[in-house]
Amino acid sequence: MNAPASETRKFEAEVAQVLHLVTHSLYSHKEIFLRELVSNASDACDKLRFEALAHPELTAGDSELHIDVSWDPDARTVTVRDNGIGMTRDEVVANIGTIASSGTRRFLEAMGSEQKADARLIGQFGVGFYSAFVVADKVTVLTRRAGAAATDGVKWESDGKGEYLLESAELAERGTTIVLHLKADEDEFLKGWELRSLVRKYSDHVAFPIRLPVEKDGKPSDEWETINAASALWTKPKSEISDEDYIGFYKSLGHDFSDPLAWTHNRVEGSQSFTTLLYIPAQPPFDLMMGGRDERKGLKLYIKRVFIMDAAEELLPNYLRFVRGVVDADDLPLNVSREILQQNRQLERIKAACVKRVLDLIDKLARDEPEKFATFWKAFGNTLKEGIAEDHANRERIAKLLRFASTKGDGAKQVVSLDDYIGRMAVGQDTIWYITADSHAAALGSPQLEAFKAKDIEVLLMSDRIDEWMLGSLTEYEGKKIRNVAKGELPLDEADKQKQEEATKAAEPLLKKLKELLGDRVGDVKVSARLTDSPSCLALADFEMAPHLARLLREAGHEMPESKPTLEVNPAHALVKRVESETDPAKAGDLANLLLEQAEIAAGAQLPDPAAFVQRMNRVLLG
Ligand code: ADP
Ligand code: MG
Repeated sequence: MNAPASETRKFEAEVAQVLHLVTHSLYSHKEIFLRELVSNASDACDKLRFEALAHPELTAGDSELHIDVSWDPDARTVTVRDNGIGMTRDEVVANIGTIASSGTRRFLEAMGSEQKADARLIGQFGVGFYSAFVVADKVTVLTRRAGAAATDGVKWESDGKGEYLLESAELAERGTTIVLHLKADEDEFLKGWELRSLVRKYSDHVAFPIRLPVEKDGKPSDEWETINAASALWTKPKSEISDEDYIGFYKSLGHDFSDPLAWTHNRVEGSQSFTTLLYIPAQPPFDLMMGGRDERKGLKLYIKRVFIMDAAEELLPNYLRFVRGVVDADDLPLNVSREILQQNRQLERIKAACVKRVLDLIDKLARDEPEKFATFWKAFGNTLKEGIAEDHANRERIAKLLRFASTKGDGAKQVVSLDDYIGRMAVGQDTIWYITADSHAAALGSPQLEAFKAKDIEVLLMSDRIDEWMLGSLTEYEGKKIRNVAKGELPLDEADKQKQEEATKAAEPLLKKLKELLGDRVGDVKVSARLTDSPSCLALADFEMAPHLARLLREAGHEMPESKPTLEVNPAHALVKRVESETDPAKAGDLANLLLEQAEIAAGAQLPDPAAFVQRMNRVLLG
């Protein structure tokens, strides 16, 4: 109320930083400023249409929402105008004088001081408005909030260098006008056909009419022409939509310069009718794994073609957070709020349908388009794995889509499905075996695999951090148990069992000696059924966490219970035989501890006293 009529303010420090980054790194894609401004204008129209549902007087007298793009070759300006929601003075300050979106903050954090943001990243974070300064050395915003008096208009102006001017303005019409005063060498944007082709390229599927003046003698005339399709693409029958249309629409959703990997478009008719148009991107957004879980965007909810809100959190489970697109429902109340949405039963059904469509789509890629599926798996496989724990109802479906490296696969490539594994199982095998480790090489080289290699049993090799956690929720598939080769008892068949018992009996004195030498460093010492070539390995109880993971969690500051490992030894190995025959207690102690320590290293565990290990090893080497 008491704001001075005219004032100069400083940008928030972060805005200045974003401005600097954007103007310096977006240069090779400078024309996207137009897409960003049109997309803001379209958002403003969406917001007004929504508010007008409850307050029809807001659009009275001017109810055809539209966006006008024009140019003035003499003044060297490009202008984007909308008759959407507009902004109050406070909103102008909050929305374009400070950094409102936490996404932009994360962008800054991610960039750090390196200042080498590339255009792709900027696109994903949507630092939209400031892209105007890539081509303009001065930007003027004239805006009036819908419902506000003509005298309550606001003028904002800045050269993008640290300060902006804020003034009251009398504006005859509601909405926002953005005037770009072009830099000296940006004349290409002063041509009608250039602007027209850019709008067609980037904004054809904006749902409001975008109008341009008809060009006459190189100048804009008074005659306006709508140049975009301005239709809600998803409402058209599939047969009338080309791949280019689908791809163009995806890009108009923003935040990705690349083509989508795949999409699925469906209409459900019945007691509750709705349309879904869902896309899988070809690459993960920058913050998918970092901050992506807190604030999710990308799925727009419409009700009868009226944009309601971004409802990614309400309509998609976390593990499908990479999906983007549109849901348009016919039967939801138009005045829904987020709170209502969260408890709405119809919405639960729509959500289930979205999940089903996306899983169907991934399934189809897996069956028919292996290359696309490989791209998908690389980008989002680890995200999808979260669904095993999160989505009980779809666990089998998701499990079917998982791909792993394997001792019978293609090196480190994750290409083996659980069905592939089952298809190769020997008669009588009732368990799917896997191992988890820090890296593919560590998994492949693990001593625990030796017995499996000897018996030609396939083992899935898992080295993504999420695997161990996921497998906690995946203990069976198609009636087969899924087990870690390093855990629990390992009698592979009856003959093994018997051999194992005999070997244990024969090794009783050895086991006793090792237990005495190792004292409370171990919980137990056993004869191993896992080893053929190596002298020793660790065995875990069924409930125990893999040592490499326990180490990672400890390093990340989590308190982990100290559990004493079970050491398994191979009595046939020469080193174990040496411990057995060594009569000098000090030498026997060194050897016993080295047996344990090499097993710990192979399992990716943390050595409690690395210096002691090195000294021991040197004594033995010089021995
Ligand atoms: P984003 O669109 O991702 O929120 P932008 O930098 O493009 O980020 O825009 C910042 C904010 O400025 C928008 O969220 C909106 O509140 C406001 N804004 C920008 N352009 C307009 C406009 N034409 N009409 C109304 N508000 C606008
Ligand atoms: Mg924007």
